[in-house]
Formats: sequence, structure tokens, C-alpha cells
Amino acid sequence: MSAKILVSGVKPSGRPHIGNYFGAMKQFMELQHSYESYVFIADMHALTNVQNPRQLAENTLDVAIDYLAIGLDPKKVTLFKQSDVPLVAELGWIFNCITTMPYLERAHAYKDARAKNKEINVGIFDYPMLMAADILLYDADIVPTGADQKQHIEFTRDTAEKFNRLFGETFRLPEPSIPESVGTIPGTDGRKMSKSYNNTIGLFAPDDEIAKAVMSIPTDSKGVDEPKDPDKDNVFALHKFFTEGPEFAELRDRYQAGGIGYKESKELLIRNMSKFITPLREKRESIAKNKSDVLKVLEEGAVAAREKANLKMDDVRAKVGFKLT
Ligand code: ADP
Repeated sequence: MSAKILVSGVKPSGRPHIGNYFGAMKQFMELQHSYESYVFIADMHALTNVQNPRQLAENTLDVAIDYLAIGLDPKKVTLFKQSDVPLVAELGWIFNCITTMPYLERAHAYKDARAKNKEINVGIFDYPMLMAADILLYDADIVPTGADQKQHIEFTRDTAEKFNRLFGETFRLPEPSIPESVGTIPGTDGRKMSKSYNNTIGLFAPDDEIAKAVMSIPTDSKGVDEPKDPDKDNVFALHKFFTEGPEFAELRDRYQAGGIGYKESKELLIRNMSKFITPLREKRESIAKNKSDVLKVLEEGAVAAREKANLKMDDVRAKVGFKLT
């Protein structure tokens, strides 16, 4: 039996942060050994809010370097940029034609943007359909992603079912792979960590940036000696990812008993976070020196991804009536 297929991606709309890593990227890395993997840089999605060509190109190359730095092996994973397979827009269009406006109006991301009175371009509104195309074009079995994307995977499954009902069995229904223990990682202001909120801690941040970000996390006003509820503290929420074994258990006890202040907790977090990030940052710096190697990985990935996508679109075109025989 051939290996199951994994598909996922990250938007090049800014620097990846620790939320992206623990929610999604870490899974790409761990699962690359057991799945046929297609991991892309979602530059077409990023265009909904990055409309500066130099910035978009720079961010895209940066994410490619990031993928390599966290340990994705181009011999195991097809790494490519979304726009190198323009067929995805064709499939997205087909999905647009079988999806209703009220259905897309239910998307959380769209509702949030409306509630904030943001100007919403058609790309943002239509984002779930392009995402469905991203996933279904490669016959994904699983889509590793953070908890915030759960609804979009449901939209993808609904779209696949609808197409299959209308035109005959064509698409496999993908399963989300959401690490339950991770949940949604909070940013430095306590909201979801997100590139859109300016509350991130970069996955490759230098030490001074880590320290500044951690020190800015808001806490309540409890004094050093007062008992604290670790599960209600944003600093502790991040310790879960960077502080291990007995040190973590001891920290939890000290929170509950009283005797540790938020300043000490933050200092400990800065130390442990830096221990985790420093080797990643150093590896990234060395990969970034060979830009042509990175471009070559993307070119080879694009060829492999297009080959797979072409096969699928052949079938889709025949099913909808685009093929004349
Ligand atoms: P952002 O919200 O920062 O723009 P993306 O939309 O590029 O992030 O998301 C890339 C991946 O990272 C997605 O799978 C998403 O679910 C995951 N992710 C993003 N933010 C978080 C977070 N705060 N906690 C856990 N996972 C996250």
C-alpha cells in the first residue's frame, strides 16, 4: 500500500512564530518520515494582505529557509510555493461555483474581520475555497494544522463531499491533524499568537527580541508570595513548550504554593526559550547563505507538485465537462 498523503502550508505574511511551529510546522517535521508530504508556502493566500512585491518575494524565500531550518528534508518532502502550481486557482474557481455566499459568510475569520469593520477583499472572503483546493488537489489524507484552522478543514471536507455528490466520486475527505496538547498558543498580549496581531515571538528570534517579548507579557498583580493559578497565566502557558521534566513540575508547584514572582518566571522562560531557539537560528543562518540551493529545492518541488496536480485536474476537468471528446 502506498504511503498516506500529508498536505499543509504556512502563509508568508511575516516571520513564523512559535505558535506556527508548535501548532503546525513541528508536525510537518515529525510526520515527514511516515507520509508522502506536500508542504507549501502559501504566497497566493498571503497576497490578500501583503501587496508589496519585494516584501512578498522576500517573505516567501524566508519561509522556504525556515522549513529547511526546522529539519524538513527535501528528499522526503515536496517543498514548493503555492503560486508555482496555478492549477490550484482553477480548482478554487470550480469550488466557488458550487459554494454559496451564506455558507462562506459563516467562516470565523470572515466574521471576525467584519466585526472589526475591516475592509475585506474578495480573496479574504474566498480564502476557504482556495484552501480547499490546496488540500484536495493533492489527495490529502491528513492536514496538520493549529486548532484555529479546524473550521477551514471542515469547509474543505464539505466542499469535497459536495463536488463528489454533484459530479461523482473524485476527492478523498481529509482529516485534520491538530495536536490537542498544544491548543492555541497565546501571544504576548494574551490573544491568539498571530502575525496579524503583532504579538508574536519569532521562531528564530535573537536573544534580545525573546527577552523583550517575554517581558512584555501581561500578568495579574499578585505579589511574589501569593499562590497563583498556573493555568490562568500566559507566561506559564508558554513554559509548557520550553520547560521540561522536573523543572516544569517544580515550577507548577511553586506557582500553586506561592513563592515565585512573575519576573522570575519570565526570566526562566527567556533562558529556556533561548536554549531552544538558538540552535534553530544558527542553522537557519547557515542555510540562508546558500540562496541558490534553496531556490533549487523550490524549483524541484514545483515540478513534482505540478505533476501530481495535473493528474488530478485531468480527472476534475473531465468530471465537470471541460473536456471535449
Ligand atoms: P498566522 O495566524 O500567524 O498568520 P498562519 O495562518 O500562517 O498563521 O498559520 C500557519 C499555521 O500555524 C496554521 O496551521 C495555524 O493553525 C498554525 N497557528 C497559527 N497561529 C497559531 C497559534 N497561536 N497556536 C497554534 N497554532 C497556530
